[in-house]
Parts: sequence; C-alpha cells; structure tokens
Amino acid sequence: MIGYAHDTHQREFQVCTHVRRDDDADFCQIFTGVGIEYKIACFDCSSHYDERTDQFFEVSETEFNRIAENIENPFQWERAIGNPEILITDDLIFNRQEIPFDGLGVRNRIIQVCGDKSSSSVLVVVEDRLYSRLDFTSIRFVEIAQGSIQSILEITDNTISQISGMDFTKEVSLQYDSKAGLIVVANTYGEFAYVLTTSGELKLSTSRGKYQIKHSVFPLFLFEHNSVYYLIHGSDWNRLDISNIETGDIITARQVSDSFDYFHGKLLLSPNHTWLVSDGWVWAPVGMVTYWTLDRWFQDPGTPESRDVVYSLAGREEWGMGLCWYSDTKLLVVGYGTLDSIYHGVSLVDLENNQFHGWFPGPTGEISYHLESDLLISMESDSFSLWKLSTGTRRFHRENIRPLLLHQDCIYFTEDDQLFRFSLKVSPT
Ligand SMILES: [Zn+2]
Repeated sequence: MIGYAHDTHQREFQVCTHVRRDDDADFCQIFTGVGIEYKIACFDCSSHYDERTDQFFEVSETEFNRIAENIENPFQWERAIGNPEILITDDLIFNRQEIPFDGLGVRNRIIQVCGDKSSSSVLVVVEDRLYSRLDFTSIRFVEIAQGSIQSILEITDNTISQISGMDFTKEVSLQYDSKAGLIVVANTYGEFAYVLTTSGELKLSTSRGKYQIKHSVFPLFLFEHNSVYYLIHGSDWNRLDISNIETGDIITARQVSDSFDYFHGKLLLSPNHTWLVSDGWVWAPVGMVTYWTLDRWFQDPGTPESRDVVYSLAGREEWGMGLCWYSDTKLLVVGYGTLDSIYHGVSLVDLENNQFHGWFPGPTGEISYHLESDLLISMESDSFSLWKLSTGTRRFHRENIRPLLLHQDCIYFTEDDQLFRFSLKVSPT
C-alpha cells in the first residue's frame, strides 16, 4: 500500500479559527514542509498566512480529522499552498547492461522500445524504420520482418500511404503481442492506426478523424478476450470502439451524440481485463480520467457515454500526466490535487468505490509500478527515478539519459545512442 515514512516527527494539528467555527467555510491545505503534513485554513487566512499565524489553533487529532474529511479527497478540494517534503535517500545501486546492435549491423538512433504484452521480449523501432525483437537467449536483435513498417503499409494499402501513412520523424506509439504476432502502430498524435502481423500483413486500419488530435494521444489498446484479439481504438474525438482484429468487425456500433463532450486519450486496461481507463479531457479544457468496466461495455455499446456507469477523477489542468496499475482495481495517478493546485506526486485511487487511498510527493511524468520490488519508476524525457511506494521515498535517480520503457522487471534507456537496461531484481548494496 502507498505510504509516507516520517515517523520521527510529532505531528501538530492546526486549523484556523474560521474553519474551526464554521464547517461550511472554504477549505485550504497549507503544507508545512514536514512530510505531507498540513494545516487547514479558510481561503482568506491562506491568502494572508504570514500575517495570521495567531489565528491558528491546535485541535485534537479527532477534530482535525473530522474537518479534514471534507478535503482529504484531492479530487474534491479546491486549493493548497506551501510545499510538501519530498523524501530522498537515493540509496539503490543498479548495474546497467548494454544491449548491442548486432542484429542490425548499423548503429541507429532508437525511436521507441515497446514491451511485449505476452512475454518479456521487446520490440524496437530504429531510425531506418526496421523493427526487431530482442532475443533474450542471445541478447541480440533479430529482424522479424522483411522491411520497414512504412514499406509494409505502402505495399498492403497504397491508399493509406498516399493519404497519410506513418510519419516516423514524429512520435510513434506501439503495442506488441508476440503470442498473437500482432503489432499496433500509430503516430501518437496522428489520425490513423494500424494492426500488422509480424510477418507483414495488414490486419486492420482505423482513423479517429482530425478534430483536436494534437492535444491527446491516439487511444489504442490491444487485448485478448475468450481467445479472440480485439483493439480498443478511438474512432472519433469523443468516441471509442472495440474491433475484432481477425474479422475487422466493430462490435460496439452505436450513435454517439456530438454533444458528448469528452476527448478520449491514453487507454489502460487493468491486468485482469476488468477496468478500462481513458485519460482524456473536456472543454475548458480540463483533464479528466474516466473509467468503466469492460464487461459492461460488451453488454452495452453506449457505456463510455453513459454517466451512470462512467466514473471520473475530477479536473486537472493537464492530462496525459501518467497512470499505471497498482492492482486489478487500484490505479496510481500522477499528481495530487485539482486544477491549479496540483502537486508533483502520485495518488492511489480505488476504482471499485472511487476512493482516494493516499499519496506521496515527488514523481512526475510517465509511471510504472513493479509489485515484486515495490518500486515505482517515474520517467521524464531525460531522466528517471525509482520510488519505494510503501514509504514514498526516492531511492534512485538518473539524469542525461533517455528512458524508453519499464517492462516487467527491466528499465530500458538509451545513452549516447546505445541501448541499456537496468534490472529491478538487482539487489541494493
Ligand atoms: Zn481563517
């Protein structure tokens, strides 16, 4: 479970006199700089905090918690000031393993590394557009197709390549399943997505239209259900569908009203294929994470638009901030707070009851959690950090590299155009 280790400090429980007298007052958290402790103030006192220290009083822990209950859910409270304390020990040491480019013969800039959904191998896209699978037996690259993804698309669907095709100079999203022999590829902020076999056959192509696509990633998720492979994909700005990859059939045919105001974004399906999460946004614009169950969607195609079965984490000024699974029902979400009072950190939310289960400050960017080591990795464009989830402590930090993927128990990154990996199984020294 998520935690925050700061057990040597005797916590004080302070609230401003206005909050103490009036439970209906506006609430504000004032972080003290010690751990994630905070005082509770009305908006007025929070705006003039330095002049009003005499307006704050110590209350019992019970009374503090009674007042705090109104604001403990970070997706409900409106404002916070001050800075929580980030715990840093950086006491882990990992050995990196270089992965040579023997299979390609030429050293090329790696565009992306993608984890295999069904094994520990990975798919690699390099600058000359070849794609290869990592063979862990020999730790060499093995070419798995005769040509580039681009050339496969040109051969199999001339129309697509003439209209748009893939642009490998822009960000690419990939999903890979070696068991099914399927690769899902799209420009992350593009209009089209494709499903290819590893032998170069185009199985499915889809479009999400052009409306506002530069603001959210192409929603895509490949999964197996009752031995059939499906792709969940954006098919319009406010619409998701499920397509059967073998037949090409859309199994969620329906009408979606133009007035349904939600731009779907990055998708996550829980490990047990129960919960589906979309990290999208609505106009003002405000980011909003929505979630519903896949079972319900199979039964009712209109589920993503149905307000009584879609749950949401209330607005954040940004979206695409990083999400990953803690368990089959609990989601880790980057950020604490709402709108302009959002803090760097990670929050734990139980989707089954829409309940907040704590947070700790620090992580930003993309995140992934490794249960066995209890380590959360946070990845920025040129750095990554490892955090122990049960204590909220940063235990490793590395800069001036390009992290690409946390897959199973390894982290892949490039440094000076070479690919390396760290194993989370390496013991700390
Ligand atoms: Zn006050």
